[in-house]
Amino acid sequence: MRYVIVSGGVLSGLGKGVTASSIGMLLKSLGYRVTAIKIDPYLNSDAGTMSPFEHGEVFVLDDGGEVDLDLGNYERFLDITLTRDNNLTTGKVYANVIEGERRGDYLGKTVQVVPHITNEIQDWMDRVASIPVDGNGDEPDVCIVELGGTVGDIESAPFVEALRQFQFRVGKENFVLVHVSLVPVVGVVGEQKTKPTQHTVKELRAAGLSPDFLVCRSEEPLEQATKDKLALFCHVSPSHILSAHDVSNLYRVPLLLEEQNTTAMIAEKLGLEMTADRPQLDAWREMADHVDSLENEVTIAMVGKYTGLTDSYLSVIKALQHSAFKVGAKMNISWVDATGLEPESESKDPELYAKSWQDLKAADGVLVPGGFGNRGIEGMILAAQYARENHVPYLGVCLGLQVAVIEFTRNVLGKAGANSTEFDEDTPHPAVIFMPEGSRTHMGGTMRLGSRQTNIQTEDCAAVRLYDGATEIHERHRHRYEVNPDMIADLESAGLQFVGKDTEAQRMEIIELAGHKFFFGTQYHPEFKSRPNRPSPPFFGLVEAAFASQTN
Ligand code: GLN
Repeated sequence: MRYVIVSGGVLSGLGKGVTASSIGMLLKSLGYRVTAIKIDPYLNSDAGTMSPFEHGEVFVLDDGGEVDLDLGNYERFLDITLTRDNNLTTGKVYANVIEGERRGDYLGKTVQVVPHITNEIQDWMDRVASIPVDGNGDEPDVCIVELGGTVGDIESAPFVEALRQFQFRVGKENFVLVHVSLVPVVGVVGEQKTKPTQHTVKELRAAGLSPDFLVCRSEEPLEQATKDKLALFCHVSPSHILSAHDVSNLYRVPLLLEEQNTTAMIAEKLGLEMTADRPQLDAWREMADHVDSLENEVTIAMVGKYTGLTDSYLSVIKALQHSAFKVGAKMNISWVDATGLEPESESKDPELYAKSWQDLKAADGVLVPGGFGNRGIEGMILAAQYARENHVPYLGVCLGLQVAVIEFTRNVLGKAGANSTEFDEDTPHPAVIFMPEGSRTHMGGTMRLGSRQTNIQTEDCAAVRLYDGATEIHERHRHRYEVNPDMIADLESAGLQFVGKDTEAQRMEIIELAGHKFFFGTQYHPEFKSRPNRPSPPFFGLVEAAFASQTN
């Protein structure tokens, strides 16, 4: 097993995740099997309890793991399927060690950060690196390990120390350290400043780790003089100082690294074979060119809650973009704060109210993504009603399906006050109810998480076409509430079709509306399995219909 460690310095948010994914993609294009581990030095056991408002989206895996959004980047770039253990957190490491201590595993020893925590970290990487991820059961050849946070943080110190020891455990010939840093331009002269990078490398070296490569984030390409200076002060060969300047689209990042001979240099260090024939890389280049060449545009109104931080909907945005690339258009997302659509806004914030409705009406399609909690629900219901009544393409994901069902129950079945018991426990018409997995009466269960099967009920539906004729589909879930089974018959006779159900036909997985050009909802989250070259089918359905509606 070879390891490529990606660490970061100076500040967070430099695109370490994209760098790590890009390097993985490049090594994969040589024909190697590549996996990835993300280290998050926070104390949470997993990302499931973290607010997407603060930390970005909670990414969900097949096995039900609720993990950091960087695992989504790896899955998309490397086209692999990861496990919850591919996300290592301080919380998980300490929990294992403390549990072991209680079991008596340490034979009377004092349990300490070094060596017990650091050993646990190394054992974890060793174990998880060999888990097959590409669906054919073979062990990976290379593992990318991304160390979250910035080197020098108190929190990441045990991980840095574990990595220092790890280079000896696995052998230096199997270990490459890539450090991502920032080269800012300050002042009127416009000089590229190397000092922040010098400092972060100094910190790394003091911890016993010397970077093999520096990836320098900057606006413009690194100048030769900057590279020479960094080489001199950072103990890195000038050819190993890589410029990661701004590019026209995300998919250019691996290509940018490739142009600087990165793949060949890493391959040499790790004893991997270079090949001239790299169809994956060619296809990637084509995709990057295609994205840059798009002239048309398609606008989707995203009616949600956390509209301030786009990372809270990262996979949804990706799935929309992948779909837009396929129809041959740029994705323009119009953010509509759901509360702005609510009647109370009209008096409280008339400008917001006017703008929200204007944006909703100007869009080619409407998307209501997943979410929890009360806020904005009435606005989302209004958005669903608007899309239904005006034949505007609509996709509801999880909560988005639930609000569409509530809206239909209220306005088509005429059951005023219909709601989800999540938002109104005493609703006279519970259209959506708490239905934990396993039992309808037992309230001890919690979230329905991870991959579950959906069975398509009829040949005559959009889902069959979008999923290429498949009648059994597997998608990822993260929810507690379901459409009330007692209301299905009424809803169906009024035209809302439940074309996808779980294997017991108890849980409604896909809705479609008869006679509407595209009105689709999924109880699962299809965005998590979208790929740049294989957009998620429901998202593609929305974008395709939205794009077509422009010309009609
Ligand atoms: N809050 C809803 C539920 O728990 C929807 C969840 C979601 O959209 N992920 O069922």
